[in-house]
Amino acid sequence: MIPFLDLKKINLQYESSFKDVLNQILNEGWYILGQNLVKFEKEYAKYCQSKHCIGVANGLDALKLILRAYKELGVLENGDEIIVPSNTYIASILAISDNNLVPILVEPDLATYTIDVALIEENITSKTRGVLAVSLYGQTPDFTEIIRIAKKHSLKVIEDAAQSQGARHHDLISGGIADASGHSFYPGKNLGALGDGGAITTNNDDLANVVLALRNYGSHKKYENIYKGFNSRLDDIQAAFLTVKLKDLDNSNQSRSEIANRYLNEIKNPLITLPVQAKANKHVWHVFVIRTSNRDHLQDYLNQNGIQTVIHYPIPPHRQQAYSEMSKMTFPISEKIHNEVLSLPISPVMSMYQVDHVIDVINKYSN
Ligand SMILES: *Cc1c(COP(=O)(O)O)cnc(C)c1O
Repeated sequence: MIPFLDLKKINLQYESSFKDVLNQILNEGWYILGQNLVKFEKEYAKYCQSKHCIGVANGLDALKLILRAYKELGVLENGDEIIVPSNTYIASILAISDNNLVPILVEPDLATYTIDVALIEENITSKTRGVLAVSLYGQTPDFTEIIRIAKKHSLKVIEDAAQSQGARHHDLISGGIADASGHSFYPGKNLGALGDGGAITTNNDDLANVVLALRNYGSHKKYENIYKGFNSRLDDIQAAFLTVKLKDLDNSNQSRSEIANRYLNEIKNPLITLPVQAKANKHVWHVFVIRTSNRDHLQDYLNQNGIQTVIHYPIPPHRQQAYSEMSKMTFPISEKIHNEVLSLPISPVMSMYQVDHVIDVINKYSN
């Protein structure tokens, strides 16, 4: 069986470095808000061409804390509207609703799966204060256009960069484009920890300062609480593992890109729609998402031929029980995407023999 993602194999590549940093932490005996966290934050800020990086517990918290910090700064208030793509992973929307803000879902572009920028302005009302732009599947949306619209209407731009470590829009890197960006280091992400992890990057000193306090009980100084904060810190051990993997991120993204290019050039089957990389973008292929009208049939067929696939995602947010208030809304493009998408195996440890097999099996597929 070709696994969708062989995480064990990915992480075993770094076994000896992981053991070194683990030994170092065991010898030091410092586990939270220590030097390993500071080191990772410094290196990841630099990687993202950002002034600040603040490590937090996970990607959802990263997005939640950005929005919460904007509330503490008086930029956002309860009931304000945030535009977000209707086909995103649920976390983007949870971060908005958890802050008593209102998610305004906007359909994606069917070719790139990122927000359809032509639909943003018609969704702006007197209550709109921000766009949560999601770099879904590994490529950024059209940030040139999003930033132009945001300037015109005085909106904040926040990037959900959970799936796009290393991606670029023109020469700008994901995490360094928006006013603030939320990152996830969930094990399966392009830069994945050996457990949960997340971070916020921004050039805004005030925002960074509030987030620093929010992640640590709303406190800059022990036992002095300025905000009703959270416990949402990136563990030093995860930060140390991430520092090891960050050095290899461009390399491992390059391996993904070579596989993606083979899929794009060699999968030739009229039943399959391949993903599109926008001209201005460098895609990092967090997932390689194809579409077909009889998706479950294709998934069964691939499974029978030894190829494991995953659906990102089977149910659109507005059809989730958790958001029953949206159940009467319709988003035809999103619904089509959720009915048709299937993600093929792609990872830096996949062999070219495995890639050959996937291409061969898909090219022989018929309904
Ligand atoms: C993974 C992910 C998140 C959440 O990250 P966690 O670390 O799992 O909390 C948010 N948004 C998107 C698009 C994601 O893929």
